[in-house]
Amino acid sequence: MNFEVLYSKVIEPGLCSRCGICVGGCPVAAIGLRYDNYPELIDKCTNCGICIRCCPGAEVDLPLLSRQVFNGNYVPDDLQGHVEKMFVGHATDGQIRATGTSGALITGLLLYLLKNKIIDGAVVTVFDHDDPCKTKGLLATTSEEIIDAAKSKYCISSSMEALQTVRKKKGRFAVVGLPCQVQGLRKLMACDPLLEKKIFCVLGLYCHCILEPFIQRDILKSKGINASDIMRFDFRGGRWPGGFHVVNKEGRGILLHTTLYTTILNVLFKIYGALRCFVCVDALAEFADLSFGDFWAQDYREDFSKLVQCTLVSQRTEKGKKILQQAEEAMEIKLYSLPPDRYSERTANMANRKKTRAFARISRLKKNGQPVPEYHFPLIPPTRKAKRKERMLRLELLLRGSLSRKILLKFIFSRAANGFERVNLCRKKMFCNYQNN
Ligand SMILES: Cc1cc2nc3c(=O)[nH]c(=O)nc-3n(C[C@H](O)[C@H](O)[C@H](O)COP(=O)(O)OP(=O)(O)OC[C@H]3O[C@@H](n4cnc5c(N)ncnc54)[C@H](O)[C@@H]3O)c2cc1C
Repeated sequence: MNFEVLYSKVIEPGLCSRCGICVGGCPVAAIGLRYDNYPELIDKCTNCGICIRCCPGAEVDLPLLSRQVFNGNYVPDDLQGHVEKMFVGHATDGQIRATGTSGALITGLLLYLLKNKIIDGAVVTVFDHDDPCKTKGLLATTSEEIIDAAKSKYCISSSMEALQTVRKKKGRFAVVGLPCQVQGLRKLMACDPLLEKKIFCVLGLYCHCILEPFIQRDILKSKGINASDIMRFDFRGGRWPGGFHVVNKEGRGILLHTTLYTTILNVLFKIYGALRCFVCVDALAEFADLSFGDFWAQDYREDFSKLVQCTLVSQRTEKGKKILQQAEEAMEIKLYSLPPDRYSERTANMANRKKTRAFARISRLKKNGQPVPEYHFPLIPPTRKAKRKERMLRLELLLRGSLSRKILLKFIFSRAANGFERVNLCRKKMFCNYQNN
């Protein structure tokens, strides 16, 4: 049980999600990150086996995690995961709300917890100020650092590396992470009681897929922008809901496209999406205390249809409930309760798509004798439609050559992409039986 095992069982077979949990979890800080965010040994391994035991890459016992976190059974076809309640909400302070991805609910909650000394800091993901095309994990201990960390980074960020700092500090901390990171963190908490005591709460992000870490450089290159001329690269910058946006050294903000950021992201996921995400079955950070995603008012009728710049939140545990209640009582956040019959269909569809995509891909890879992650529950056999989609995915993977990536990037960030987007919207309206709830 040492780093060599992690390398041969997870990294080499392509099962590493680059979450950073092995880096943060290593008791002797012997693991670092390579330029492409894969872990590497940087010091002497003591053969403790923690890295392999906490890694979510090759194996996650989801039924066991379910018992550990909810004291309940894992229900694979429960698309929302274990949910007690759902809310739509936002930070009450207008300035904070404007810094967030959706409604800055996460940032608002972290600020509330920090100000009231309920936590001493939070593991977040920030842009590296020395290289704005890179992201990294940080244990934020001041309000300024928490605000600076707001906004989604849709590229691989091995932010669980910051657990190394948690290990060295006294106090209680919140952790914000993607579904794979939450799974790894829960596994680590189970095998490291000292660290478990320090983790006050786990905040998860909904996640369909994540992009390769060199995406920002490729986009800048295709737009003819020199990486050394920018101060900041945001995936959701500019006016809400924002988009791919840079701030140059003169402080001028530039939105890099005229189409909706969601259209751009959907294409980028096909040509830059990390392959490990295609065998992941968790879209909604099912094992967090609270999980957060984008709220789209157009999905709703009546009262909810008027809410903009908000976050959707799934309350999963008693701790999550208390945090939301206390922050709302302190008027740091505003929440609107979403009745179960009006839970977001878009969210359920996203979870369904991610699960069926993973089931179909795992089943084909298994048949071919290729390595797949083990989730410890019987996978639902893929339908014909899921198998067809999986074949499509294999075709899309052929578009990952450097020339095709270059051509597609040029196109989707050009004005011409607007026409393509309009056609796609018409197709959706005509053929997708979309109903708002
Ligand atoms: C890769 C990725 C994919 C996503 N996919 C979807 C999706 O398909 N559908 C959907 O509804 N929502 C998705 N989200 C979540 C959504 O983008 C918002 O993060 C969420 O709505 C919370 O918004 P907020 O304004 O409350 O958060 P904010 O107040 O902006 O705070 C965001 C927090 O998340 C942390 N963070 C940012 N990027 C990362 C990262 N890469 N890894 C770990 N932590 C990070 C930040 O440090 C910050 O603390 C995704 C997020 C990410 C990072």
